[in-house]
Amino acid sequence: MMRALATRGMELLEDIASGAAPRAHLGQSSSTAGSWERLAGVYFGPTRQKKLQAAAVTAGRGLPVAAIERIEKHLRKLSRKAAVSEWELRVELCGLRGTVDEIDREAAARVYAHNRQVPGTDNRGLRAFRGGKNVDAQGMSTATLTLPAGDMARYKAHLQVTADKLREADPSLDWTRAMADAAYQHGVGGGQAGNPPPPVPFGVMRAPDYVTYARGEGGDTVFGLSDGTTITGREWVEKGFAELGYVGIFDPVEGGIDLYRESRFANDKQRMLLKAETLVCPYPECTTPADECQFHHLTAWEYEGETNLANMTAACRVHNGRNDDDPHAPPRNGRFEREPGGVVFHPPDGGPPRVNRHPQRRLSAMGLLAAP
Ligand SMILES: [Zn+2]
Repeated sequence: MMRALATRGMELLEDIASGAAPRAHLGQSSSTAGSWERLAGVYFGPTRQKKLQAAAVTAGRGLPVAAIERIEKHLRKLSRKAAVSEWELRVELCGLRGTVDEIDREAAARVYAHNRQVPGTDNRGLRAFRGGKNVDAQGMSTATLTLPAGDMARYKAHLQVTADKLREADPSLDWTRAMADAAYQHGVGGGQAGNPPPPVPFGVMRAPDYVTYARGEGGDTVFGLSDGTTITGREWVEKGFAELGYVGIFDPVEGGIDLYRESRFANDKQRMLLKAETLVCPYPECTTPADECQFHHLTAWEYEGETNLANMTAACRVHNGRNDDDPHAPPRNGRFEREPGGVVFHPPDGGPPRVNRHPQRRLSAMGLLAAP
């Protein structure tokens, strides 16, 4: 049974549909059994889309039943006006592989990518504040806030300003509690309006193969071209990229190379490039956005790692803190390393390096460079 749940979700649903696995034998709560029966109806019940149904079943063999449940949860939210049919998208989503959480996030991103293309779509009607009514065994009460993703990002950016001040005053305060205090202060009218940096467009340029670059000459990056001349990064960017907010130049192997904008932003150059490079903490399955990340030395300072872009990455507090900084000590938690294509995580068991497959990372600089 457990093995069936882990990899043989389609077979399980088929058995349910055919009556080979009667409800009483599933050993699950009635709500779970009911959910599985509904799924069995989708994948093995009558439909006009027999071909696509068969294709979805074939594509989905090997998926755990929990992954199929997540796929269906997101598919139910596909707009009827979307350019793709529900069955076509179901076949596509059943072809996803990874952990259940990875499949969950990827399926949500793909359904949303279709929904946001539907003209006149307004998701603001879905905003909600729920909960706060029940008290748990420790006297705590939990509420959830649902907002369009952009509004939530702005809200969190404002809270972050207050939370950072609170943590400056009390370094023992962790991020989760500082944000809770900030949300409470703002909610009761005592929080000072924060002034977070506004989101800005960020262009990504690939450093082409025919140039070699030398860092930091006269405060700019100098590119040597194959025709024997040189060009500065600024000159290059001024040929048509001036209207963008920021332009970062990235190399598929080295990562961030340089960033162009007005000089008053120069101090934030490294941070902007490191954030744009990954957009999300590079630890597998981590969801912490780059704005909430720290800046991590891949080769630690005490092992003579330099503070340059190739030796750095954005990483969340937890995964920065847990990183094995001494590459020669026995591995405990694993470590980040830069490889061609971006920063990867080397697990402590010596297994193959793992990447964070969060959908947001496809829009990061390294994700854009890797795109076909
Ligand atoms: Zn992380």
